[in-house]
Amino acid sequence: MFGSRSNIGWQVASVAAVKRETGDVKTFMLEPEGGPMSFVAGQHIDVRLTAPDGYQAQRSYSIASAPERPGCIDITIELLEDGEVSPYFHYVVEPGDQIEFRGPIGGPFTWRARKGTRLLLIGGGSGVVPLMSMLRHRVASEKAVEVPAVLLYSSRTDHHIIYRGELADMDAADEDLKVIHTLTRHQPPGWTGRRRRVDLEMVRDALGVLGDLGDADGGEVLCYICGPSDFVENSAMFAVELGIAAENVMTERFGPTGT
Ligand SMILES: Cc1cc2nc3c(=O)[nH]c(=O)nc-3n(C[C@H](O)[C@H](O)[C@H](O)COP(=O)(O)OP(=O)(O)OC[C@H]3O[C@@H](n4cnc5c(N)ncnc54)[C@H](O)[C@@H]3O)c2cc1C
Repeated sequence: MFGSRSNIGWQVASVAAVKRETGDVKTFMLEPEGGPMSFVAGQHIDVRLTAPDGYQAQRSYSIASAPERPGCIDITIELLEDGEVSPYFHYVVEPGDQIEFRGPIGGPFTWRARKGTRLLLIGGGSGVVPLMSMLRHRVASEKAVEVPAVLLYSSRTDHHIIYRGELADMDAADEDLKVIHTLTRHQPPGWTGRRRRVDLEMVRDALGVLGDLGDADGGEVLCYICGPSDFVENSAMFAVELGIAAENVMTERFGPTGT
């Protein structure tokens, strides 16, 4: 069993709330005990668990919440049953517990509100987490809300879609935002979204939808891609092939398996 212990460079946060997002995904709202933590959308924190015998396990988790809310940092964790850290969060961590963390961490995979750009966000599975921080920042920041944005989001089934309700609300409330879902393994009856893995045609379509949003004179496209390694590599290749400047394609890889 892991506990919590402080060291130089690491801080302690208390768990303010735990929210179930899907059958195997939960969000943990962390309040840093040292006070609010400034960060940029797209960054992550490292968390560290320490067992009574001193054994430690450390993992990275993207921040899901908006930088406009620095006093409460949300992380969203997918359960991997054979894992070390994610089962601890899912089966053990409760409101009131203390968690050791350090951060914020991460440079290139960040987005600050900037007018005159368009956002193409491509997420696979829990790779949607840092993209959600960007979308929440886009809503919370007056500067950013005029930035047209498309989220292309790949999930295994409709039961695996994280933040489903909030994404639907964001899409419905904002004519400059479009959320495109694709389900790779099973689609429910009446599903009108995409039904396959992200491919070149799908990214081309998403780019076309993005081009139709906002002012016709547009602005350069910034593309952020996050998910399993193979998903990220393929999606980045498609983005560059479709003409997005390579320096405008930012990637973050979460882990080894495919969506
Ligand atoms: C920058 C960064 C940000 C991240 N943000 C998030 C996040 O927001 N939410 C989140 O859920 N995860 C995120 N991850 C992944 C996270 O750090 C862990 O790797 C993941 O939670 C598994 O840890 P574990 O200890 O439970 O499993 P482990 O004990 O590390 O691994 C158990 C098994 O699962 C496999 N595995 C490890 N990681 C993954 C993975 N990501 N996907 C599929 N299989 C895997 C391993 O090969 C092994 O077979 C992020 C990773 C990075 C590098």
